[in-house]
Amino acid sequence: MPEEKWKSVAEAREFILARTVPVSGAENATLRGALGRVLAEDVAAPFDVPGFDNSAMDGYACRAADLSDSAETVLRETGCALAGAPSAADAGENQCVRITTGAPVPKSADIIVPLEETRAENGDIFIAAARRKKGAHIRAAGEDLRRGETALAAGTLCGPAEIGMLGSLGMASVKIKRKVRAAFFSTGDELKQQGEELRPGEIYDSNRHTLFSMLARMNMETLDLGAAADSPESVAEIMDAAAENADVVFAAGGASVGEADFIRPALASRGEVLFWKVAMRPGRPLAYGKLGEADFFGLPGNPVSVMVCFYQFARAALWKRAGRCGDLTPPSFSAAAAAPFKKSPGRTEYQRGILRPANGGWEVFPTGDQGSGILSSMARANCFVVLEEGRGAVSAGETVSVQLFEGLV
Ligand code: AMP
Ligand code: MG
Repeated sequence: MPEEKWKSVAEAREFILARTVPVSGAENATLRGALGRVLAEDVAAPFDVPGFDNSAMDGYACRAADLSDSAETVLRETGCALAGAPSAADAGENQCVRITTGAPVPKSADIIVPLEETRAENGDIFIAAARRKKGAHIRAAGEDLRRGETALAAGTLCGPAEIGMLGSLGMASVKIKRKVRAAFFSTGDELKQQGEELRPGEIYDSNRHTLFSMLARMNMETLDLGAAADSPESVAEIMDAAAENADVVFAAGGASVGEADFIRPALASRGEVLFWKVAMRPGRPLAYGKLGEADFFGLPGNPVSVMVCFYQFARAALWKRAGRCGDLTPPSFSAAAAAPFKKSPGRTEYQRGILRPANGGWEVFPTGDQGSGILSSMARANCFVVLEEGRGAVSAGETVSVQLFEGLV
């Protein structure tokens, strides 16, 4: 096999996405059960939204032609239209109907005058002179959605706004994609579980809990396979269990070329290693491949690397697997470097930063030590500072790209 070339982060992400297929299964969910889930089919509006012309203000419904823009207008009040209580009152010539927000607009009215622009005296309504446009403060039937129009497309991730919208369309249940089954395990003879006593040279297994947390935030079905020892047999056993049950498999640790690294050979013998060299830091080496029908991510064992690789590659792949449409790359925006950032050209770096508002914009500080084993640098940070492959050291004041943690998963 020819020596593998280093992929850039963007190349690696594209490569992975091109080989990721959305799950085909769908299920019914209650309206609220769809929160955080992906729509399996288009949802069409079953009626015009709004369903009828209604008032956007508390005020008076009348005819625009009756109103003067140079003198006060006097109209006779003929009745009242309340939200939820259709009224027979109409606004004939030089008449008006008192109306509340959301109430159907009387048949002959074509404008609403807000209460604040009026005063009432013995059933006469005095309307201040002003230039007004026909249709003002009226929400027209169908102005939001036409009956039959796609309100939400298949592949939409349902957040609070989408759930509210489905509710406004009267949907009590909705068809969503089934959850992606994501299995994960850690590897390493040095790992102990919480509650166990540490002997010299041992550490607590944190990666499995980080992985669980990121997957759970994304609403994936999690399958915790535990920790494998550093032996080909132990790794093989856990990988076979993973292949049977999962759509996506994550291994943390043992993906390198050290003498205790068994992930790549195990993947090669029962699946396919598709690449393992990405020009990034931290996050090397990342082994990506296929294990049966499952996508396989062999993440480096360093806790920060696990999170960086997950956010930069697995996140997009999981969303695509879950059926989500649209741009799946992590959102980023620009901020000013508040201090210098160390960097040499050659790899994309994901440094941990603290973003805060400054001078009407945003500035970002480094969190200090950037070692990939230093998980506290992630906990202290609120964003990644993404320093591009070709870039060298960054001086204070330069513009850098940041990815906010909040909202990433
Ligand atoms: P590896 O990729 O297996 O060579 O591990 C790289 C570093 O990450 C080593 O210092 C490991 O001890 C550490 N590490 C590996 N797995 C875990 C884990 N599950 N939790 C915490 N640290 C780990
Ligand atoms: Mg190891």
